[in-house]
Amino acid sequence: MPETLVIIGSGPAGWTAAIYAARANLKPLLYEGAITHENQINCTLPLGQLALTTEVENYPGFPAGDLESYLDHSLNPERRGTMAPHMKEGVSGPELMELMRRQALNFGTRVVTDDIVSVDFSRRPFKLNTLGGEALEAACVIVASGAKANYLGLPSEDRFKNRGVSACAVCDGALPRFRKKPLVVIGGGDTAVEEATYLSKFASKVFLVHRRDQLRASKVMADRAMNDPKIEIVWNNQLTEVLGSDQAGVTGVKLKNTVDGTEQQRDAGGVFLAIGHTPNVKFLNGQLTTTEKGYVRWTVPFRTNTSVEGVFAAGDVADDYYRQAVTAAGSGCMAALDAERWLAAQGTH
Ligand code: NAP
Repeated sequence: MPETLVIIGSGPAGWTAAIYAARANLKPLLYEGAITHENQINCTLPLGQLALTTEVENYPGFPAGDLESYLDHSLNPERRGTMAPHMKEGVSGPELMELMRRQALNFGTRVVTDDIVSVDFSRRPFKLNTLGGEALEAACVIVASGAKANYLGLPSEDRFKNRGVSACAVCDGALPRFRKKPLVVIGGGDTAVEEATYLSKFASKVFLVHRRDQLRASKVMADRAMNDPKIEIVWNNQLTEVLGSDQAGVTGVKLKNTVDGTEQQRDAGGVFLAIGHTPNVKFLNGQLTTTEKGYVRWTVPFRTNTSVEGVFAAGDVADDYYRQAVTAAGSGCMAALDAERWLAAQGTH
């Protein structure tokens, strides 16, 4: 029997879609992603990008306060046991995602820890294939596979991935190799500032290297970086090479001034890329229409429809503009409602 609804992705969009769909009796099957080395490197492990952040201060409903006993009470002890200690004030990204996951499970969502690696949307029911080699059919699909961090594409960056080059300070910053060393963050957006601020706890100094003379980050975040004595902003510079050796990993960076072309070298024990994201659409193999930037295109205003009838999209895979946890969750809710109405119109539900 084909599944009624398959949801691909386990960030706020996926879990919210699952909560709504499960409560509407659609018996959703959610693929949360596989736990693989490749997903770790690409920051595409289950629970999405929010699981890679620290405090979440802008998700409504979680003002400052100690959630410890609430988390203990709400979450399965096995999963609770593997989580980082609670920080006492407000909610963290991983905690928020675990709570959403639990809420989706509570209403009967079935969760599979695997990747969907290819789809066939040209036939009905749709066909989906997993990394683990399973094939399944679905009447309706919600794509909520999110986005992943970008790299510059330098050969030296590739050479030192996992040995001093990272695109996720929160995942890797606390590793011994980075402690008490000068570190470099590339980028000028909120992520770059957030990563620089986070790394300043461990590093001897953080150089925030930005290609222009003005940060893109919001004012409150930018002020935080500018006022942090351990962060130095290196304006108008671009990373051209990561320096190091097989034995030591990263030992420095080569930078080029984007205005006058002068080059400089700096010692660094690590390089963190924070230069934006790319939507996770590879498994779709071009079967949904995308925007110029490669994000899944919503084809009906204020709806989550895609170019294929019966396939809906939610969250960062389709949104390069808002990209917030709360907007992703909102569009996950919309996708579930759109899916429910579409299934009802088909007489499938
Ligand atoms: P972003 O806002 O797109 O910023 C990317 C930064 O990387 C920009 O400063 C950009 O430079 C730079 N960049 C891009 N390509 C580059 C290249 N090839 N070489 C050098 N630099 C390059 O991405 P983001 O910082 O990841 O933020 C994404 C969204 O998430 C935003 O909406 C942001 O507000 C949100 N966010 C919010 C929080 C928070 O509120 N706590 C935290 C993180 C992210 P230019 O400025 O020159 O284009």
